Amino acid sequence: MSTALPVSLDAEAPRTYQVRTFGCQMNVHDSERISGLLDAAGYVPVPESAGEGEADVVVFNTCAVRENADNKLYGHLGQLVGAKRANPRMQVAVGGCLAQKDRDTILAKSPVVDVVFGTHNIGSLPTLLDRARHNRQAELEILESLDVFPSTLPTRRESVHSGWVSISVGCNNTCTFCIVPSLRGKERDRRPGDILAEVRALVVDGAVEVTLLGQNVNSYGVEFGERGAFADLLRACGTVDGLERIRFTSPHPAAFTDDVIDAMAETATVMPQLHMPLQSGSDTVLRAMRRSYRSTRFLGILDKVRDRLPHAAITTDIIVGFPGETEEDFQATLDVVEASRFASAFTFQYSIRPGTPAATMPHQVPKAVVQERYERLTALQERISGEENRALVGSTAEVMITAATGAKADATGRVSGRARDNRLVHVAVPAGARGPRPGDMVTVPITAAAPYHLIADPAAGRYDLRRTRAGDAWDRAQAESCGVPAGTPGAGSAARSGAVALGMPGLPVRV
Ligand code: SF4
Repeated sequence: MSTALPVSLDAEAPRTYQVRTFGCQMNVHDSERISGLLDAAGYVPVPESAGEGEADVVVFNTCAVRENADNKLYGHLGQLVGAKRANPRMQVAVGGCLAQKDRDTILAKSPVVDVVFGTHNIGSLPTLLDRARHNRQAELEILESLDVFPSTLPTRRESVHSGWVSISVGCNNTCTFCIVPSLRGKERDRRPGDILAEVRALVVDGAVEVTLLGQNVNSYGVEFGERGAFADLLRACGTVDGLERIRFTSPHPAAFTDDVIDAMAETATVMPQLHMPLQSGSDTVLRAMRRSYRSTRFLGILDKVRDRLPHAAITTDIIVGFPGETEEDFQATLDVVEASRFASAFTFQYSIRPGTPAATMPHQVPKAVVQERYERLTALQERISGEENRALVGSTAEVMITAATGAKADATGRVSGRARDNRLVHVAVPAGARGPRPGDMVTVPITAAAPYHLIADPAAGRYDLRRTRAGDAWDRAQAESCGVPAGTPGAGSAARSGAVALGMPGLPVRV
């Protein structure tokens, strides 16, 4: 039994909460649900910037994929010991993949934890918190499979203009480096009608952009036996009035079929962007990773996509130093990267993830070799990203402004947003022109480029602002959250004053 510190039963003031998220887009979206559940149960959020001990409930939504995830979690938990002593109402909950994997170890290792819940029972969190408070002891509940599809739970959206919509959870693949199948379970597909209802509800609330989310979106439909279900879903989303931008992540090269490319090309609101994880350019390594496509197939997909969507920005994930990777294998990755002309790449150094088949494979690559290869790969990709971005100088981009700003925004006064192909664009608003709100669209010429972003510094006549329903919704949210009347901020201020944070949380940001 846990040694969780006792908590007060005083329930007079509303309890406050904070959710701390680690890991991938799935976790970001799960955290939106955790927040929605706590809102519905009467808890009140504290800002992300709040200090230790300011929230009565701190929820860690953990990731088991990152290196040293457990050490990092215990470090964070250790920092709460003093805060918890000072605030007897405080409760600490740990959920997500690491909780699903480590279970009661978390309670044994950390006396501050009151609740441990898994990836399949997010909806139980408010009850578990109540029970822990009432019984004055820690609660642990982990389910082996999905109870309720998480999208039926209340959700607190991080962004008004853009929303995540889960179409499936879990994965039927068995990539040897990945812990997801054992923690998230087999793929479960949500019914198309439920997905479309959520998309429409988001649009009614002001969203103009939706990202369909699954571990392997193009195997969508496998559970209810419908081939072509993902392409059909894209086309159906394309009929939703008011929805201007549809994205999805992530597909798998093995299951990526031509009907999806056709649906992308023939649905005006599906954006010209594709995140297609390569992982390795070596067929030997792909085999060892248990990824069933080969490099030729991968390059063939890119050709087909570019044939139908000539301006598509294609991004990828690559792992360097998988066990057994030789210099020859690594060179094959460099060759595929050179040929693929990715707009950007998420590059990872392989490191052992306990519980995965690759963790015990022979011929682990020494760290120094992995590092050296990693540097060669990132240098190559940076060169390609720079070249691809510079080729866009002089073209025109429609940019959806987000609440996020660039690191130099205070100095430059530029606002930031995403082009249709999801490239990050920093935009200067000409003197005297009306500033955009997050969710508004500006059409501007690209005037400069760097590997990770584009710049648009338009002359007055080349700045075209389109105010959107999403911008109106942002105004309303501002007025409701801080009492500031709805209005139009001046150039540069819109994106910096927003309480509505984050545009497309977790989507590839490297350009
Ligand atoms: S496709 Fe492979 S890498 Fe992706 S979630 Fe499934 S097992 Fe993991």
